Amino acid sequence: MSDTLKRWGPYTNMKQLADAGPKMIARADGIYVYDNRGRQYIDGHGGLWLANVGYGRREIIDAIAQQAEALAWFPSFGGFANEPSLRLADKLVELLAPDGMAHVMFSNDGSEAVETALKIARQYWKIKGRANKHKFITRRFAYHGVTMGALSVQGVTENRMEFEPLLPGVVHVSAPYPHHCSMHPDSPICTLACARAVEEAILTQGAETVAAVIAEPIQAAGGVIIPPPDYLRQVREICRRYDVLFIADEVVTGFGRLGSWFGARHYGIQPDLMTMAKGITSGYVPLGATAVSDAVFEAFYDMAVSGPEFRHGNTYSGHPIAAAAALANIAILEREALPDHARAMGPVLQSALKNVQTRHPQWVVDANAEGLLGRLELRDPGGRLASGQIGAKIAQYMYDLGVIVRPIGDVVTFSPPLTIAEPEIQHMVAAAEEALGMVEAEVH
Ligand code: PMP
Repeated sequence: MSDTLKRWGPYTNMKQLADAGPKMIARADGIYVYDNRGRQYIDGHGGLWLANVGYGRREIIDAIAQQAEALAWFPSFGGFANEPSLRLADKLVELLAPDGMAHVMFSNDGSEAVETALKIARQYWKIKGRANKHKFITRRFAYHGVTMGALSVQGVTENRMEFEPLLPGVVHVSAPYPHHCSMHPDSPICTLACARAVEEAILTQGAETVAAVIAEPIQAAGGVIIPPPDYLRQVREICRRYDVLFIADEVVTGFGRLGSWFGARHYGIQPDLMTMAKGITSGYVPLGATAVSDAVFEAFYDMAVSGPEFRHGNTYSGHPIAAAAALANIAILEREALPDHARAMGPVLQSALKNVQTRHPQWVVDANAEGLLGRLELRDPGGRLASGQIGAKIAQYMYDLGVIVRPIGDVVTFSPPLTIAEPEIQHMVAAAEEALGMVEAEVH
């Protein structure tokens, strides 16, 4: 077996890796990454939805180095703390005030941020004397992470089924998926039946058994599923009506991706809990965070007055180096107004993608973007390519053309660094169109 197989790659077909060899990335700068032969690529997927400020930022690198020298590590269990993690909590609470978040607990990644949120939601209702409220409602195609709790609320069936049985009491409802509406597949008119499906699920389960609804403002890893504008507001309102907590999973949509600081704000809602990771450090160091409203925190505070603490915490919660990286990252997002830049670039990405659709109406099922999160959904009009093959082929051709994107089935997804400029967006989408031409030529 080849040496490359010693490392078991994440979400990686090891047979294909053994055959093709790994694509080695050696360095990165701005929106570009370079392979070990020095070849340049636009990072059109932002290093898995997250390189928001771009690569090689000197002030983040310096902040990491300085913090490593001063205090690389000390735990925060049981009353200890370090300055950068307290400053980061202050900063996040300031940023999240419009979203109704007032307290934050740190972890290491998106899955842990989601685990934390699920456990807070469960115990919150126990503290309130309503222990039967333990179920979670989630959507088809949802991606919330890989640990057993976060996996349980995933709606990507293929990711879940080999690991069943998972957490009991998880109910899946339809995704708000334009062009794939499972509620009214034959009607062009959206009635937001998918939002009412959440209410239906609460009523069917009994509101007294439901702890929370968890939702990504845009379902990213499910295929950049951009909901109808009023969907989240309606779901949020339904949660309020039935005393069900609303968890916004902002692991991808946080920190400017959609052209607002957070997806909840983008869609005009205030959640009860919010999960973050990825763009919180733009990937310089792993970090996750779970924010909660005052009302949720106070329940736990009151419990602690007379009894135990929240018995949960990752060893590296509040890691000083990660906190220092996040503070420097957020300073750049603020100073360069990158959420505003993403908002300004959103229509550029959207119209570039829609132009591809106009020129290839037979092949492009849907083209859309919200901020700097975009999708190009394809199908082979002649039915020669099986489902999933076009996306993989386009991504490979684009890679050959010097642009890295992430295919999800036959959806080519775009999530570049928020620093990307208009000509680079045009270049990235032109590569997608050229790749599509190559696929068309191939099947003819
Ligand atoms: N939530 C969402 C919305 C995600 O997209 C992801 C990862 N793509 C996660 C949670 C899990 O994050 P991680 O891979 O950092 O555990």
